[in-house]
Amino acid sequence: METIVCIVQTEGDGSLAKAALEAVACAKELAAGLTAQFAVGLLGETVQPGADALANCGASAFFAVSGAAFAQARYATDAAAVTALAKAAGATIVLGAATSRLARVMPGAATRLGGVSDASVTAVAAAGGKPVVTRWYYRQRMFAELTRDARPWVVTIAPGCFAAYAGAGGSAAVTGVTPELAAGGARTTVTRIISPSGEQQTIRPDAKLLFVAGAGWTKKQSDGAAHAGEAEKLILNFLNKSKASLGTSKSLIDLSGEGQQVMSFLTHMHQVGQTGATPRHPKGLATCCHGEEPHVVGWRFIGERRAVNLDANCGWAQGKADVLYVADAFKVMAKVIELMG
Ligand SMILES: Cc1cc2nc3c(=O)[nH]c(=O)nc-3n(C[C@H](O)[C@H](O)[C@H](O)COP(=O)(O)OP(=O)(O)OC[C@H]3O[C@@H](n4cnc5c(N)ncnc54)[C@H](O)[C@@H]3O)c2cc1C
Repeated sequence: METIVCIVQTEGDGSLAKAALEAVACAKELAAGLTAQFAVGLLGETVQPGADALANCGASAFFAVSGAAFAQARYATDAAAVTALAKAAGATIVLGAATSRLARVMPGAATRLGGVSDASVTAVAAAGGKPVVTRWYYRQRMFAELTRDARPWVVTIAPGCFAAYAGAGGSAAVTGVTPELAAGGARTTVTRIISPSGEQQTIRPDAKLLFVAGAGWTKKQSDGAAHAGEAEKLILNFLNKSKASLGTSKSLIDLSGEGQQVMSFLTHMHQVGQTGATPRHPKGLATCCHGEEPHVVGWRFIGERRAVNLDANCGWAQGKADVLYVADAFKVMAKVIELMG
């Protein structure tokens, strides 16, 4: 019989972010499939609000590592906390969201527990009473369903793959757990977090739309001149109005390395594709992007794909988009912005 623990990190106010609630939904699903119980292991400075939000989620128990030392991500304290929570729950399967905080410590916790680990799992199932996880390989070109006999099995869940748990809250009884910390284990201190403002931050994982700007925005247009300045204004204007997440192609990113005029707000973090990101959004709109396979492979998890391209034979037309508008993206986006008011 498997015993599952779902590790959830709490936010500064003790609440749970979407990725944590998705991991809880995953734990529920796996527990139901295996006819097993699952516990919740909370990690953060304040944990009671998060535990109360999950009071009716069906968890058999709530364990928590809390206090000022666990307010911020720090490898030594977080790895010790996950290890202690898994031990307290007697877990054979340890689940947690693949957030930047948990993804970097879960494999370490697996080693400390003498177990095994798999990262960025996108689905779970029970087959013949055994847990099975799905992982994508070779930049989302193929997936495998795999199971393991070794325990504990520590698994991180890719965000955006499960509908976030949204049950009614209540009052949860939480058992405190004290992790074993090596001497000096808490010596690393986060002195400050530097992050761009909401307007400057153009990578928005929870946005309904992914807007991709390709290299065509910087190319010579029908008048024989490039209009990168105008392109920049159109793209930023649309992003501000739509709150879409911004992605780009490798070509546009590489142009900066070649000393050409590029858009100041694009970084390597925006690159979508084989050597870039694989974001998850319900819809995607590619503009001035050719839709070549190494780029489109990053669209694997985009629900509905549309593209605007002057070329009726571009990659998007080869079965890669649901809708291709053969049109000038400068004109299309100016009209869209006008219609948005
Ligand atoms: C090993 C490897 C890994 C790679 N990894 C990635 C990756 O991770 N991500 C990635 O993106 N690429 C990747 N590539 C590169 C990829 O193959 C393409 O070269 C790249 O995606 C092309 O970028 P693009 O479509 O923006 O530019 P281009 O190919 O230059 O296309 C520009 C498009 O803009 C259109 N256009 C121009 N003006 C307008 C206008 N006014 N209105 C509408 N359309 C217009 C043109 O018709 C053209 O189709 C990789 C390649 C290799 C070999």
